[in-house]
Amino acid sequence: MSQNKSFRGHKGGFRWADVELHAYKKEGSAPFKDITRQTLFGDENLSGELRYFEIAPGGYSSLERHEHVHAVVILHGTGRCLVGEEVRDIAPFDLVSIPPMTWHQFQAAPDKALGFLCMVDRERDRPQLPSAEDLERLCSTPAVAAFLRGIPAESN
Ligand code: MN
Repeated sequence: MSQNKSFRGHKGGFRWADVELHAYKKEGSAPFKDITRQTLFGDENLSGELRYFEIAPGGYSSLERHEHVHAVVILHGTGRCLVGEEVRDIAPFDLVSIPPMTWHQFQAAPDKALGFLCMVDRERDRPQLPSAEDLERLCSTPAVAAFLRGIPAESN
């Protein structure tokens, strides 16, 4: 996709002119809940993409890992994120770096949507989902087990 407009205005409510809103749909076994994605910058002349994600209250991204990295800036709302074995509360303007092949997941607070920018490589590998063994290993860290318990069991 090439952005041929130099200026695309913010329409309010984290929607932008000429930016499509994609609602995630359940695909295969990747569990996630109530997320939308908008690619703000996805020009073929850029080696990266900047996306805006919004997770509805109580929603969460899929627990996954991959070779490509994420550079995340929280814009609004609160929630928690898992990065490797670390669980952190997140709030506006916090910065989150997801290293290669590191399990990660974002959860919105029950009463507030969570909106964040995420920078990625344009060319990137497909996310991997955890096996039963991976989940068992993750849950051997108590904070991670508690974090994952915040999500319905059948989703993990
Ligand atoms: Mn990811």
